[in-house]
Amino acid sequence: MNLIILGAGESGVGAAILAKQHGHNVFVSDKGAIGENYRRELESHGIAYEQQQHSWERIAQADEVVKSPGIPERVPIVQQLVGKGIPVISEIEFAGRYTTAKLMGITGSNGKTTTTKLAFHLLATAGFDAAMAGNVGNSFARSLSEEQHQYYVLELSSFQLDGIDAFRPDIAMLLNITPDHLDRYEYKMENYVRSKFRIAKSQRPDDFFLYNAEDENIGAYIRQHALRPKLVPASSSMIDGQLLHVAGSTFDMSRSSLRGRHNFMNAIFAIQAARLWGAEDEAIQEGLDTFVSVEHRMEKVAVVDGVEYINDSKATNVDAVFYALEAMARPTIWIAGGQDKGNDYGPLMDLVREKVRAMVCLGVDNKKLIDTFSGIVATIEEAGSASEAVGKAAKLARAGEVVLLSPACASFDLFKNYEDRGRQFKEAVRQRINR
Ligand code: ADP
Repeated sequence: MNLIILGAGESGVGAAILAKQHGHNVFVSDKGAIGENYRRELESHGIAYEQQQHSWERIAQADEVVKSPGIPERVPIVQQLVGKGIPVISEIEFAGRYTTAKLMGITGSNGKTTTTKLAFHLLATAGFDAAMAGNVGNSFARSLSEEQHQYYVLELSSFQLDGIDAFRPDIAMLLNITPDHLDRYEYKMENYVRSKFRIAKSQRPDDFFLYNAEDENIGAYIRQHALRPKLVPASSSMIDGQLLHVAGSTFDMSRSSLRGRHNFMNAIFAIQAARLWGAEDEAIQEGLDTFVSVEHRMEKVAVVDGVEYINDSKATNVDAVFYALEAMARPTIWIAGGQDKGNDYGPLMDLVREKVRAMVCLGVDNKKLIDTFSGIVATIEEAGSASEAVGKAAKLARAGEVVLLSPACASFDLFKNYEDRGRQFKEAVRQRINR
């Protein structure tokens, strides 16, 4: 088959390698510059590619096109392909054809990475031959090209789900749906919700669909559409202090590094999935006790001069910040801001009033944040770098208080990505220890 791959990042290169292994005629096209590592990889596998352009004559020869999740549907090249009737699929759809392993697909607006890593850790602790891939670490295609495992735990973003059709996870998880990435969905929540539910599209009656029973968007969709798989609800009524009651068994979170109600919900999902695949309760409890929480998600950095610093740089939307603020037990200096994605800060108002003593806005354009929160937060300052933000927050904070980086916004105005923002924040905090 003549396979064209658009985009040469982790998923595009992974798909190219897998496709080549399976004897397809592969050509990779990227409108931007291809990273050196990826270029070298393509060359070492003898895969033809182009960069800084899309050659339509060559691309139009495709029998099928694998589109990387970063490329929006609306760009001209994708529209031209669709117009010509050439199927455009995602790397997940493509890779799914080349395995008979049991698959777990995890999606939601928030908590995907944490839940994916935890579910994988529970399975690994229980002795399963499992691998983790998708939006976290290796792409699914690359992972399959390297080694076949019996079980895969896959983190799936809505962009990856947009291009699936026959892909069928044995266990699908929908953690929550709150507004995010609406710029890619014509600013229509219903389009985003529909995209998330694609995860269950090809599931069969003996597959499982784990969902958040308290989420209004999920509830409304389920009431209106008949889903084929067995429905397994999760709700916060299963949380009892430090205990989780899951289908007749009780698990203790008191030794876990996971904190906050949102993380306990993530744990309920991971536990249910591990049990459905036959993991023993004892192994699951051991996995919960030994799980190391994930960088940039409510990550405790240090206590300096009696002030605790928490890095939640991955909180790039309002809902994630809601849970971060909810988990704050002490007065908080909140560092927020960056590239706004059309945020509605309404849901945060009560929590901010109750918990935030001062704010530092860390972005190029902080006007919306300042307009929204002046009158609610007495002190609001601005910073143009992570170290300036930490410096200002440190001056504002008193011993016993918390400095929380939980931005509610994307990072691209001042940083390479959220990891870069989180690392610069941590570095600035560490400088204070050593000063
Ligand atoms: P994702 O991969 O979906 O972005 P992460 O596990 O990376 O999710 O967490 C992203 C942010 O959302 C972090 O700030 C984290 O503390 C917060 N978060 C994690 N789980 C949940 C949840 N179930 N509901 C709301 N926020 C969550």
